[in-house]
Amino acid sequence: MARKMLIDGELNKPSEEAHYDFDLFVIGAGSGGVRAARFSANFGAKVGICELPFHPISSEVIGGVGGTCVIRGCVPKKILVYGASFRGEIEDARNYGWEVNENVDFNWKKLLQKKTDEIVRLNGIYKRLLSNAGVKLYEGEGKIVGPTEVEVTQLDGTKLCYSAKHILIATGSRAQRPPIPGHELAITSDEALSLDELPKRAVVLGGGYIAVEFASIWRGFGSNVDIFFRKELPLRGFDDEMRAMVARNLEGRGINVHPRTSLKELIKTEDGIKVITDHGEELMADVVLFATGRAPNTKRLNLDAAGVEVDQIGAVKVDDYSRTNIPSIWAIGDVTNRMNLTPVALMEGTYFAKTVFGGQPSKPNYSNVPHAVFSIPPLSVVGLSEEQAIEQAKGDILVFTSTFNPMKNTVSGRQEKTLMKLIVDAGTDKVLGASMCGPDAAEIMQGIAIALKCGATKEQFDSTVGIHPSAAEEFVTMRTETRRVAAGKPKTNL
Ligand code: NDP
Repeated sequence: MARKMLIDGELNKPSEEAHYDFDLFVIGAGSGGVRAARFSANFGAKVGICELPFHPISSEVIGGVGGTCVIRGCVPKKILVYGASFRGEIEDARNYGWEVNENVDFNWKKLLQKKTDEIVRLNGIYKRLLSNAGVKLYEGEGKIVGPTEVEVTQLDGTKLCYSAKHILIATGSRAQRPPIPGHELAITSDEALSLDELPKRAVVLGGGYIAVEFASIWRGFGSNVDIFFRKELPLRGFDDEMRAMVARNLEGRGINVHPRTSLKELIKTEDGIKVITDHGEELMADVVLFATGRAPNTKRLNLDAAGVEVDQIGAVKVDDYSRTNIPSIWAIGDVTNRMNLTPVALMEGTYFAKTVFGGQPSKPNYSNVPHAVFSIPPLSVVGLSEEQAIEQAKGDILVFTSTFNPMKNTVSGRQEKTLMKLIVDAGTDKVLGASMCGPDAAEIMQGIAIALKCGATKEQFDSTVGIHPSAAEEFVTMRTETRRVAAGKPKTNL
């Protein structure tokens, strides 16, 4: 299938000379790929997309229309977070007058089945979204065979070859395992979402999103959980004060927190997995989760065939419009390792479609992207942390904090504070960052993010009337600054 190669120097100059099977072929039908495919088709492009089929209860085959977020990420994780949160609710209910039997039963298999049913449903919805938009789906693994050619290998080994004027790489990322002796005994988040049994003893390695979320999930279901991370605090990159609050909350909920500790070896025994730390401590676990970061899925893409450049960790290098060094090839989402969040991949997919097929060249904007860690309780942030603001600001920074006992806890008796924080530029009064660790943080932060996106000042926050009684009203009633900090180098990065 030799085709005339024609690569336009401009963003979207239709070729009159070449004929292609597709205007766009997308490799990877996760959040970003599906969004880009649908929106491009809506602009009139002829679009093909490929993705491996997935087996709902096996984590062996990586794939599935919907991608990591829907199949083995955000969605099933959030279902487990909801499930795990009932334990605290049941405890809290007692002081509200509910007579709760001591032996509240929990059926892990039932929840897993419900979770799987929901994922299968969403997988079907995503497939329908594609077909309704007129996108042709190929169930198989895609690879690049030239600047305008892709090959799709189906599960039965059949190879299909197509030409496309534009190719979009949207293959996401996969969990990494550090080469600790015995690492094959550990699981990643892929398997953690489909365990046959709820582990009685769970060990988590890592201090990032996934580690903190799974520690909370398993503890919520009653497991004995030990979390190990290398730094003083979990969640490197987040505001230090918030990180300390998350660590306190993990401990407060009964998780054994081991800062400045890594794992040295895992050994299989009759009683489970023997875990040896780098401090020489030993403990037994039924499950060891490695939540030690993710790597871009580029190894099997055959990028060399077209000369697509990747960085040192294998992420596809792109310009501000998501275009690679090969003008006909583009990339979005985790595979580019820019800001690895589903809504960011959606933004990149939307802007790709606008740029290439909508006649509106558009660069994704990464400022004030809100995000959340779904620990129990959750942490959510938008804009700059105190440390980032100190580093980036030209003048002084005003820090407003509010630590309080949420009203619900006054009756339930739960000893768990909520922390809210605003970072303000002292010169312009502009709010540079907001963060919250406490119930409903993600729900509240989405609205605050709109204010920051609009460039709101602290005075505008203060002139906004609160909703009473709510925790959210604290964001508009923090009158007195907690401290004023001069721009420069932040004190710590724990
Ligand atoms: P993160 O990058 O968030 O965290 C990785 C953690 O693993 C860090 O604490 C890191 O420690 C630690 N680590 C790395 N290598 C080693 C090692 N060899 N030994 C011990 N510890 C190690 O990765 P996650 O896996 O938690 O999540 C991957 C990505 O998925 C995130 O970046 C996020 O973008 C996305 N995600 C988003 C979620 C959300 O929006 N709620 C939920 C889940 C995932 P150190 O800090 O010391 O380097």
